[in-house]
Amino acid sequence: MRVWSEEQERLRESFAAVFAACGEGHLERDRSAEFSHAQWKLLAEAGLLRLPFGTEWGGSGQDLLTTMYVLEGLGYGCRDSGLNFAVSTHVVSTGIPVQRFGSAELKARYLPGICDGSAIGAHAITERTGGSDAAAMRMTAIARGDSYVLNGEKRFISSGPVADLFLVYAKTDPEQGAFGMTAFVVERDTPGLTVGPPIDKMGLRTSPFCDVTFDDCVVPAANVVGRPGRGFFILDHVMKWEILCSFIISVGAMRHRMERCAEFARSRTQFGAAIGSCQLIADKIVDMRIGVETAAKWLYDTAERFVSGADVMVDIAIAKLLASEANLRSAADAVQVFGARGYLTEYGIEKELRDATGGTIYSGTSEIQRDKIARMLGIQRT
Ligand SMILES: Cc1cc2nc3c(=O)[nH]c(=O)nc-3n(C[C@H](O)[C@H](O)[C@H](O)COP(=O)(O)OP(=O)(O)OC[C@H]3O[C@@H](n4cnc5c(N)ncnc54)[C@H](O)[C@@H]3O)c2cc1C
Repeated sequence: MRVWSEEQERLRESFAAVFAACGEGHLERDRSAEFSHAQWKLLAEAGLLRLPFGTEWGGSGQDLLTTMYVLEGLGYGCRDSGLNFAVSTHVVSTGIPVQRFGSAELKARYLPGICDGSAIGAHAITERTGGSDAAAMRMTAIARGDSYVLNGEKRFISSGPVADLFLVYAKTDPEQGAFGMTAFVVERDTPGLTVGPPIDKMGLRTSPFCDVTFDDCVVPAANVVGRPGRGFFILDHVMKWEILCSFIISVGAMRHRMERCAEFARSRTQFGAAIGSCQLIADKIVDMRIGVETAAKWLYDTAERFVSGADVMVDIAIAKLLASEANLRSAADAVQVFGARGYLTEYGIEKELRDATGGTIYSGTSEIQRDKIARMLGIQRT
């Protein structure tokens, strides 16, 4: 197991009370599919949203691994998985591309609001035609003087209903396919941008999502992130951060769930003995432990290789598959360990199963990760 420094442990511990407070009321909010601005503010004031950003923009300058370690604490301590998902979307999918690829002007304009949480971030890639095949997106951004005119529709945009900033990917040169894609920061109140109503969904219900349409939406050329045509490389970088950070949050949730199941298995008796003494129940909890440790190891090791500049394409695919599928399996097993109680909404166990399901779809589905691994093995795919 990884050994963290005292400083890293102290940093994570400093958030523990806030994380617990941010989970309060999560079952009611899940029912009403409500994003909590109050709890978002608590996380922002505690400094969580600043972690990986430079101090010159109001960040706290932490490295990727330290950021992940604190985010694992978020998953462990805060039961509002939708809120936790919104943190990852904001910090990683919106803030990181601006910090890594944005101009000095873009960073100065947007990073302070991302760090202090006053400008909630979302990112918009998916479209009706371009889901797993993001390069099949049809949204265009046509250069006109010092601006680009955006037209198209994005789907399933997490935090969209509450977002102030959108990191949008569009085709500036449709003929070039993936290499004709450009990333933009677009402010919510830009004329021509319309945020659709929240779409009801199965899990992560406190992170509302919606469609966003762009109808002759004029965005200054200064809002291009990186260089025109480099959107695909930005997306590739962001996906690595997104997988590492959002699934380390899942690892924290898995660890919490495993401890909860172990406690229940020790205290619930049937046939005159604790149910944990039944090997079939104990095995489920043992598998949860193996899942959580394996996912944590793959995510942290991959992060270490990523920051050292190694090619982590396959490692990322394996880490994502492992973590998302271990989370789903552990959540399904937790329902079984808790019996009918696991099936009741009041225990919050069934909610974890609904929340975990999304993880095998966003950031590249399980099938797409397997496909990547198969391709790297040289197995031909149609
Ligand atoms: C909770 C959640 C949050 C999301 N948040 C965002 C967001 O903030 N921003 C955003 O832009 N998008 C977001 N998405 C959308 C997400 O990125 C897409 O759902 C995902 O990329 C899959 O696209 P799709 O749903 O169109 O499925 P499709 O691509 O249509 O796939 C349907 C099925 O076919 C399989 N499939 C497709 N191609 C292949 C292939 N070549 N080989 C094998 N199987 C294949 C898939 O694995 C899947 O099982 C979110 C989705 C979810 C569930």
